[in-house]
This record gives sequence, structure tokens and C-alpha cells, in this order.
Amino acid sequence: MRKLSRVNTVLGPIPAEELGVVAIHEHIGYGMPGSELDTRWWKTPEERYAETVPKLRTFHEYGGGTFVDATGICNGRDVDYYKSLSAKTGVHIVACTGFVGGDTALPHFARASVDYLAEQFVHEITVGIGTTGARAGVIKVGVSRGGRMTDLDKRIYRAAARAALATGVPILTHLAIDAENAIAIFAEEGLALDRVLFGHADDGVNAEKTRDTWIAEQGGRVGFDTFGYETELEDPPFWARPRRERLDHFLRFIDQHLDKALASADANCSPLGWPGVKGHTVNYIFEDLIPDLRAAGVDEATITRLFVENPATFLTIQN
Ligand SMILES: [Zn+2]
Repeated sequence: MRKLSRVNTVLGPIPAEELGVVAIHEHIGYGMPGSELDTRWWKTPEERYAETVPKLRTFHEYGGGTFVDATGICNGRDVDYYKSLSAKTGVHIVACTGFVGGDTALPHFARASVDYLAEQFVHEITVGIGTTGARAGVIKVGVSRGGRMTDLDKRIYRAAARAALATGVPILTHLAIDAENAIAIFAEEGLALDRVLFGHADDGVNAEKTRDTWIAEQGGRVGFDTFGYETELEDPPFWARPRRERLDHFLRFIDQHLDKALASADANCSPLGWPGVKGHTVNYIFEDLIPDLRAAGVDEATITRLFVENPATFLTIQN
């Protein structure tokens, strides 16, 4: 009998074949812990809805199937809200367990042991996140500011590896720098690297420091997932990069390692505690990135591979 391929979404598990076009690294609303409670940035639920629903509806109209929310436990993740957004717009939303980095984990978690963190992740994947009944479909980990993994980052990576092995859910990283340390932890835990997506290989700050082809040669997946944060924007963020330079980097990578490549826009539907980047949304994928790829001569089969097949393989729970 064929094994069922399943992916956890906030409204329940679905067959991987139903994911459609996937935005693999996005945010409904991301902010530093507590910043959403700052009076300056306060948003009512209605304001958040009003900012978010049109973007998800447009995503759906363009043919977008699934939105992977890479917002960590302490960075504004709000699963009841995601359930409501998914029901309202028809977009599958995959929520994550885990943390963007050790430096965004609140003290309650920052002091926890590897075992405690692993148990927390496994519970969120197999039972549910809080009382929402929604199960996490991916585990988020990341490198703290400073460019090197801290001890806490390493504990989180190790707990994530154990949870990935116990549940079959994959890992998605914030930053692909210092990958030697990450890969050593995954090797010690016995986790195959095709279960890990090393993210943000393409941003303006980290692209130079990221060994993307080396990671792919080790078996890891590589995320070119900050598409659209361009120096050409009216008010570019510090991690922006010239549009052509990023595209060329991606084209070089997929020429060698198409099976390991994933792409996304890392946009915020409704940022928390910061203004966000004006004019940048998840729909960059349809409005700019896919047209740029076609103009560069990338064929439809490759585009399907990047946005449908590779994400489905990655997200499918491995039993
Ligand atoms: Zn992100």
C-alpha cells in the first residue's frame, strides 16, 4: 500500500498533492517579542485583518495554494488567527513550531533544556499548538544576531533535529551562515540534511557569507527566500540586494542544484512592531519573480519544480 503523503496545515492535515504553489517562507505578521504590545505599533484585530486578507486573496487568485508562516513561537505567531484567515481566503496556511533564533526566545524558553524544547516541538507537531488543535507543519530555528551560533541556538537546533526525527516534520532555518555548526549538530543527531531548508542564502547581508553550493553538496536544501527586498525599493531595508544580482545568483544555483532550491519572498502581510517594507508582499512571487524567471529562459517544468514539487517533497511528513 502506498504511504499517504501528508502535510500539517492549521485547518488539519492535507495530502501534499493539494498544496499547489507554495510560498515556503513568509509571515502573516512578524515582530520582535513584545513589540506588538508597544502603544506606538498597536493594531486592532480588525486592522490586522484589513491588511492581511486582500494580500492572501490576491495570492489565491494568482494561483497560490499554500503559505508557510515562518514566524517563531515568540515573534507574533497567532494560530487561531491563522485558522480564521485560512478559512476566509482558501489559502492553506502551514504554521511552525520553534524559534527564529535564540535571541528571540523569551526567557521561559531560553532557560529550557534540549529535552524540554524537543518535547514542546513534538507536542505542537503531533497534538497541537496550545489549545488551537492546529498542528505545526515545520520547525523554525535560526542563528542569533552576530553571525555565529550561540549556545542557545545550538540547543534549539538539537531539539529541532530530535523533533524532526520523532515526527517526520522538516526544519526551516533563519540564516544559512555558520552552516558548519548546524550541519555538525544534524549529523550528530542522525538527521538527513534533505529535511533541512537553510534559509536566507540570498539576502544582501548574508549572501556573500553563505556557502550555498557547499550546503547543497552536503544534501541540504537552500532557500532563496528574501526575493523582493531590493535596493531598487523606495525605502530599502538593510538586507536589500540589487534585483538582478539576486536573480543571477539564483539562476546559477538552480543550474547546478535545482532539486535543492526553494524560493520565497519573506514578506509580512501585517508586520508587528515595525513598519514593514512598503510595497513588498508575498505576491512578489507571482508579480515579479516568476515573470523574471520566464524572461531569463526558465521553463515551466522548472518553475513547477521550484514552487510545487520541491516544497511538496520537503513539507511531506516522513514516516
Ligand atoms: Zn522570515
